Amino acid sequence: MEIQQDMPLAPFTTLRVGGLARFFAEALSVDEVREAIAFAKGRGAPLFVLGGGSNLVIADSGWPGLVLKVGIPGINHRHGRGTAYFDVGAGETWDDFVASTVQHNCSGVECLSGIPGSVGATPVQNVGAYGQEVSDTIDSVLALHIETGHEEEYEKADCGFAYRSSHFNTGAKGLYVILRVTFALTHGGEPRIAYADLKKHFNSRGEPTLAEVRQAVLDIRASKAMLIQPGDEDSRSAGSFFKNPVLTAPHFDQLNEKARARGLQIPSYPALAAKRKVPAAWLVENSGFPKGYGNGHVGISRKHALAIVNRGGATAEEIVRFKDEIQRRVHEHWDVRLEMEPVMVGFEQSPVASFRR
Ligand SMILES: Cc1cc2nc3c(=O)[nH]c(=O)nc-3n(C[C@H](O)[C@H](O)[C@H](O)COP(=O)(O)OP(=O)(O)OC[C@H]3O[C@@H](n4cnc5c(N)ncnc54)[C@H](O)[C@@H]3O)c2cc1C
Repeated sequence: MEIQQDMPLAPFTTLRVGGLARFFAEALSVDEVREAIAFAKGRGAPLFVLGGGSNLVIADSGWPGLVLKVGIPGINHRHGRGTAYFDVGAGETWDDFVASTVQHNCSGVECLSGIPGSVGATPVQNVGAYGQEVSDTIDSVLALHIETGHEEEYEKADCGFAYRSSHFNTGAKGLYVILRVTFALTHGGEPRIAYADLKKHFNSRGEPTLAEVRQAVLDIRASKAMLIQPGDEDSRSAGSFFKNPVLTAPHFDQLNEKARARGLQIPSYPALAAKRKVPAAWLVENSGFPKGYGNGHVGISRKHALAIVNRGGATAEEIVRFKDEIQRRVHEHWDVRLEMEPVMVGFEQSPVASFRR
């Protein structure tokens, strides 16, 4: 495995910002992951684990240690009674895996079509969209503990899955390299049509197949620039930049009251309202940041209020200043603190494995 030096990181991200990695390696096997870790340990270099770079803001100063891109391949599937198990290498492209499940007529991840990035990153923030989350179908996660070198098989119940979070981005943040994820899907199962946009799409059009649902999700995502498409400047983003805030009951009531007093109504869907989850996009748009806002290097996507886009030539510093401004204004207007969804890399080193000689 080749270890490269001073590698520009921006091209490895969908937002296209970030400086150089002091060292960079791509591991195509577990042995190569081990080799890379040994290299970082030997140099006392901090390690950052990279997937497809679609959920990152990398600092202009780059990364002072080793960036390890996990490229472990492989999609293997086996059948149990009605359940199809897929063992998938962490380096597989997520959407290629989704496409293969649909080809095999297995349901469970069809609504997650078109999410960029690698399979290995999906448990980290428990990716979700259009009524499905990976935690619905993850059976287990095989992860290598960076300090001890042990491979640990995490059963789903031990992964600590919640909305956009898991053990891997909270308590055990930066401690593991995920090597493989096993999914349990339903062979011949029905597609899930729970989300309003999907229901509308299929309104009175019979019973759609898995392939039709996958295509509908891809089309809806493309219309919102939530599908990476070369030439679509609005997709030069890190996806949704903020999580939907989950409020306490009194806070939720206060917010509704505030909105009513201003003649506004917070959009509410049963699934959101039940958890007192507020659409972050609504908060952003109603704090002075409409779709298409901004005319410099950085702005809001013309197709999605939650996506901060690099309109060309943006720096990480500009992105961070812009997101700070949004957070400040949303707090001023609505007394709600928006939490970032993407991971900040190189702004501080504490949350990732850092080796001292
Ligand atoms: C246009 C667009 C649309 C998006 N839509 C959605 C959406 O609908 N729903 C959603 O949930 N997300 C969405 N995202 C966010 C992103 O695609 C997901 O979070 C995705 O899972 C990130 O995968 P990645 O491989 O690119 O990870 P990266 O961005 O490379 O890394 C993300 C985090 O995971 C860690 N990581 C990556 N691989 C591993 C590994 N093998 N082992 C340990 N840690 C690892 C990294 O260290 C980092 O902390 C979107 C992003 C974009 C750009």
